[in-house]
Amino acid sequence: MNALSPLPSRSAEACESDTVLREHGQRSVFCGLTGIVWLHRKIQDAFFLVVGSRTCAHLIQSAAGVMIFAEPRFATAILDERDLAGMADIDDELDRVIGRLLERRPDIKLLFLVGSCPSEVVKIDLKRAAERQSRARAPHVRVLNYSGSGIETTFTQGEDACLASLVPALPEADQHEPPSLLVVGALADIVEDQFTRLFEALGIRRFNFLPMRRATKLPPIGPSTSYLLAQPFLGDTARQLEQRGARRIAAPFPLGAEGTTLWLRAAADAFGISRDRFDAVTSPGRASAAQALSQRKSGIAGKRIFLFPDSQLEIPLARFLSRELGAELVEVGTPYLHRDHLADELAMLPPGVRLSEGQHVENQLDRCRAARPDLTVCGLGLANPLEAEGFSTKWSIELLFTPIQGYEQAGDLAELFARPLVRRAQLEV
Ligand code: SF4
Repeated sequence: MNALSPLPSRSAEACESDTVLREHGQRSVFCGLTGIVWLHRKIQDAFFLVVGSRTCAHLIQSAAGVMIFAEPRFATAILDERDLAGMADIDDELDRVIGRLLERRPDIKLLFLVGSCPSEVVKIDLKRAAERQSRARAPHVRVLNYSGSGIETTFTQGEDACLASLVPALPEADQHEPPSLLVVGALADIVEDQFTRLFEALGIRRFNFLPMRRATKLPPIGPSTSYLLAQPFLGDTARQLEQRGARRIAAPFPLGAEGTTLWLRAAADAFGISRDRFDAVTSPGRASAAQALSQRKSGIAGKRIFLFPDSQLEIPLARFLSRELGAELVEVGTPYLHRDHLADELAMLPPGVRLSEGQHVENQLDRCRAARPDLTVCGLGLANPLEAEGFSTKWSIELLFTPIQGYEQAGDLAELFARPLVRRAQLEV
């Protein structure tokens, strides 16, 4: 049964009439293994070894598409029925697989053992295996573990689990050092480079990114660290960072010109940067983003958009679509609503917008069909059937694989939504 409950932590302006539809039922979302596809590109000397089944191997291969690497940075150790015969042997077998991998690949400095959901995998103590291997291989290779299982994680939660596993390994920041900024959440290198230039121009001298590009360059963390989330799905990572003494800088997410400005300004304010300097540094980016958005706005303004719960990016995207492109939000679903991390985003949504948390896919499909939106943002599994019924869709997975944050990407982000609308309009002509 669906439960309607009031949404807390909204601004006074918006909260009065809003409710969140909480749903429990069948879900149609990728599991957390999917995050490996973008994380392996980010940490260049890390390797992700999925301990799983043939299904897991297929999922990652197909999510990664046709990318061919001379030396891939992920693989699946497939456990079959035979392995179940003796659990005691599994530890030895896993150690052998890891040993062979690391001998062949001395470039690997950080190895993630990634758990999955087949029952035989659930029985393996991957944490113990990671600790055993880390001890044996120190200091050349660090071995960590996390779960990407579809039972415990959905889609982007895999990144959260991965980064949360890294936090205890981060070195302690020297408490006598000046305050530093930690930007948390995987960003495409091109976006990270743009933000690097902006932070430097603003005068924020000490900043790092998590995940880092090199496993040997772990960012230090401690009470003098302020962290700024670049992705809205990092609840566990944030909790771990706070346990290490770091403090979160509250901000919306850097999607669109407005989101990017507010995100950068939150960092600038936390580091005492003057408004004049902030305006001088950001005005060129703001101007070019505004121009790029104005060129695409006419294709999206007034269009009715329905977002299925998938990537947890839905709420910042909905804010961008409605405020910067004039779209009308029919329903905004998210697999999980982190009310603190999304407080600033929620306050910027139009009053009364229908939000849903969790999923009951059949009910949601019924609502979508009844509403007949101009564009439906959803996972791959729902997109094809909806297209066959005459709906225009946008695959939410593309939003994770495409650089979309920051000023220079604002136009591309709008384009991702405009393209299926234009295609449908051409088909109808
Ligand atoms: Fe593997 Fe479970 Fe993901 Fe399926 S849902 S690919 S079995 S981890």
